[in-house]
Amino acid sequence: MLSVNEAENIIFNLVKPLNNQTDIETVNLLTATGRVLASPVTSQIDFPHWDNSAMDGYAVVYQDVREANEEKPAVLKLVEDIPAGYQPQSNIQSGQAARIFTGAVMPKGADTVVMQENTRREDDKVFILKAPESQEFVRHRAAYYQAGTELLSAGIQLNAPEIAVLAAAQCTKLNVFRRPSVAILSTGDELITPEQTLQPGQIVDSNQYALAALVKQCGGEPLILGIIKDDREAIKKAIEEAIAKADIVLSSGGVSVGDYDYVEKILESLGGEIKVRAVAMKPGKPLTVATFNIPNAPIYFGLPGNPVSALVSYWRFVQPVIKKCSSIVEGWQPKFIKAQTRNNLNSNGKRETYIWGKLNLVDGVYQFSAAAGSKSSGNLINLAQTNAFAVLEVGKKSVSTGEEVKVLQV
Ligand code: AMP
Ligand code: MG
Repeated sequence: MLSVNEAENIIFNLVKPLNNQTDIETVNLLTATGRVLASPVTSQIDFPHWDNSAMDGYAVVYQDVREANEEKPAVLKLVEDIPAGYQPQSNIQSGQAARIFTGAVMPKGADTVVMQENTRREDDKVFILKAPESQEFVRHRAAYYQAGTELLSAGIQLNAPEIAVLAAAQCTKLNVFRRPSVAILSTGDELITPEQTLQPGQIVDSNQYALAALVKQCGGEPLILGIIKDDREAIKKAIEEAIAKADIVLSSGGVSVGDYDYVEKILESLGGEIKVRAVAMKPGKPLTVATFNIPNAPIYFGLPGNPVSALVSYWRFVQPVIKKCSSIVEGWQPKFIKAQTRNNLNSNGKRETYIWGKLNLVDGVYQFSAAAGSKSSGNLINLAQTNAFAVLEVGKKSVSTGEEVKVLQV
């Protein structure tokens, strides 16, 4: 059986990120949140757009004011008022100044702004009471960004800060990667939809819903294939459809060694190469990962049926794969942090153990509280309101309250 790290290495290396020529679409800035840039963005506008004032004050010629002080103020004649949004008309000569406001364009001839707190005004004269630095409080054109150079690089995800930059740079049509398509199917004779009436022995297919939500959350496009009976032909047909349509396939159930667990055999009959059969983790041991020797074939994940196991496997292995597939350059890997546990955590020490719970930041320290109730991988009820898993590595049988523990953030 593979260790979690061995499985991770194998799985993450299978991912072929989307192609920056063929797997792209153009979106409007308003709908671009969360999307990944497929090509670099260049703006035609300098930032700042022009030399402008960083203060309310007076635009002056530095040579006129370099020795000014309270005893010997420089006295300048005001020739113009320049509010923000106006194009100055004057060309400031020695002995002159313009009243200027924050963000307003610097007039020609002036090279420095004196903040109004260091001045005294008398009619059309301004007294400079303190010498500024040369070019003080002038934001120079193109100091932050030069038109025609790369503004944002390909492979970054567009979130609020990037959206703001793109709006300011008037880049409203964006080349982004399409969302990776993720086919989801559930196998099991016992499964019904949430709308159907529960008969003895049946359970609701919650995995389909959970996985669809997770796929959406991380930028994928779920493709719902529904519930498939534990019937070899039916599963084969569904898997064939999934392989033809998706970048990633997620099935749940049917991957342990029960009499009705057909998935692995069907994958092999379809030419699948099984890369992972089981992982030494708890929950989540039965995990099938397969690839196909066909162009553009997806990575296939046969997740365990147990709801908690399915989700742990998803967070540990599938989510990074979807993100890497979406061509995000940075930050697709699982996020681990160190936290202080608020409960005793136990494991049998044989498999890497994932204990679900809640991570809180308390006075600058991450604290992990295990979910109350049964830790059975069949109990998904206490998954609600969790956001992390404490990870006890192989050989580690316990972590006591107050000790540090590795935590996977989800
Ligand atoms: P399996 O991996 O098919 O042996 O299923 C393991 C356990 O998970 C069984 O108790 C199933 O009833 C349950 N299970 C399987 N698929 C789902 C699903 N889609 N939603 C919720 N529970 C499931
Ligand atoms: Mg089953």
